[in-house]
Amino acid sequence: MSVYTGRRLARLIADRTGRPDLAHDAEVVGHVLPFKVSAHVTDQLIDWSRAPDDPLYRLVMPHRDMLASADFAAVEAARDAGEQRLRLTVSGVRDRLDPYPQPNPYPQPSGRPRRDTPEDGQGLQQEDAETLLVFPRQGQTCHSYCAYCFRWPQFTGETATRPPVSGPEAMTAHLDRHPEITDVLLTGGDPLVMRTELLDAYVAPLLAEERRDRIRTVSIGTKAVSFSPERFLTAPDADDLLRLFERVVASGRRLALTLHVSHPRELHPEPARHALRRLRDTGAVLRSQAPVVRHVNDDPDVWARMWQEGVELGIVPCSMFVERDAGPRRYFGLPLSRALTVYADALRQVSGPAGAARASRGPVMSTELGTIAIEGIAHLPDGPAFALRVLRARDPALVGTLAHARYDPVAQGWSDLVPYAPHDRRVIPHEPLTLSALLPGLGGVWGD
Ligand code: SF4
Repeated sequence: MSVYTGRRLARLIADRTGRPDLAHDAEVVGHVLPFKVSAHVTDQLIDWSRAPDDPLYRLVMPHRDMLASADFAAVEAARDAGEQRLRLTVSGVRDRLDPYPQPNPYPQPSGRPRRDTPEDGQGLQQEDAETLLVFPRQGQTCHSYCAYCFRWPQFTGETATRPPVSGPEAMTAHLDRHPEITDVLLTGGDPLVMRTELLDAYVAPLLAEERRDRIRTVSIGTKAVSFSPERFLTAPDADDLLRLFERVVASGRRLALTLHVSHPRELHPEPARHALRRLRDTGAVLRSQAPVVRHVNDDPDVWARMWQEGVELGIVPCSMFVERDAGPRRYFGLPLSRALTVYADALRQVSGPAGAARASRGPVMSTELGTIAIEGIAHLPDGPAFALRVLRARDPALVGTLAHARYDPVAQGWSDLVPYAPHDRRVIPHEPLTLSALLPGLGGVWGD
C-alpha cells in the first residue's frame, strides 16, 4: 500500500492544492508531529478542492495552527541552523505539546503514566476487572495517522518514545494469572496492520480449549475500514483474516470490531462498503467510536449522519470521546460544554434504526480512574456543575458512581476540571482532580 510521509507528503499537498504555502507549512510542522497518509485517504477521502478546510484533510494533514505561532517560527528558523539546533528546537516543542512527557507514552489518559500493575510494562493493561487490553508488538502503527492522535509520540520514531508492547506469551501468562478476565481487546496503533499470521498468534490462544468457558469476547480496535479497506479486500492475506474472524465467531465467542470512524465520508467509498459487507458476513459485531474534535466533526449534523449511515451499514454507534490532553489539542480541542451540545443535538436528530445511537455514550473522557461520561449540566444550589458518571474503572466499586465538577465553559478535559464543592471554598483551582475530590458533589440533583 502506498503511503505519503515527510517531503513526499509536502509535495503531494503542493501538487493537489496548487498551494506551495500549505506544503511549506506541512514540512515545518512535520518536523515536530508525525504524519502518514495512505493512498486510499488521498485518492478517495480528501476533497482537495476544499483544502485546507476539508474535514478529511484536517483529519490527517499537517497545518501550521497545530503549533503555537512562536513554536512554528522557531522550527522554521531552526531548519537552516543545522541538525543539532533543529533537533533541540523540535525536542522543546514536543515537550510543550505533551504536558506529561514519558519515556514510554503507552496509551494513558492525559499523557500521564499508568504503571499501576506490573504487567503494564509488558504492553498489557487491565481496563477493569473483566477486560484486558493487549498492545501487540507488531501492531503499534497505523495505515494512516489521525493528526489528533494522543499516541503521536510513539509514531515519531524516537526509541525513547516506543511504548511497551506485548507478545502472545505475556498475554496468555497474564490470563492464566487472572481468571476473572473474560474480554480481551487487541489494540494499538492498529492491530490490523499486522499480517494475519501474526494476529492469529494472539487470537488462537484465546480460542484454546482450556479457555473455552472463560474468554467471552475478543475485540479489535481498528481504523482500517476508513484508512485502508484493501486490508479486507485485496491484501495478500485478506481472505485469511476473514477466515480468522469466522473462527472466532464459530468458537462461540463474540467478535467485536470497534471501528474508529471520525466522519461519515469515511463510509462512502465503495471499497469501504465492500469491506464492511465482508466483515459483517464473518458474524463480527461492528461498532463505531471517535473523538469529537474541532475542524473535523464538531457538528451535530455530522454525528447524526455518521450514526445514521453507520447503522444502515450494520455499525452500532458506541462512544463519542473527548480529545485527550496531549498533542495538538490547541488545534483539535473543544470545550466540554460544546462536546456535550454536539452529542445531545446529534441524538435529537436520529430516529428509526439509527435511534440505536441513544444507547451510545458521550461525551466520555479517559482518565486515570477509568472512563467517565459527562451526563449533562446540573443546576445545583451553588451554581452549575458538570454531572459525571464513572462507566468503567479498575475498582468495581466506582462503576456507576456519580459526581459533580464545577461548570467551566472553557474546560476541555479531565485535567481542567475542579470539584464542585459547595461547602468548601478552599478548593484550589487546577489541583489534580480525583474522584474523592469530586465526591462532595455526589447526590443532589443527580443522586441515584
Ligand atoms: S487510528 Fe487510532 S491509534 Fe491510529 S493514529 Fe488514528 S487515533 Fe491514533
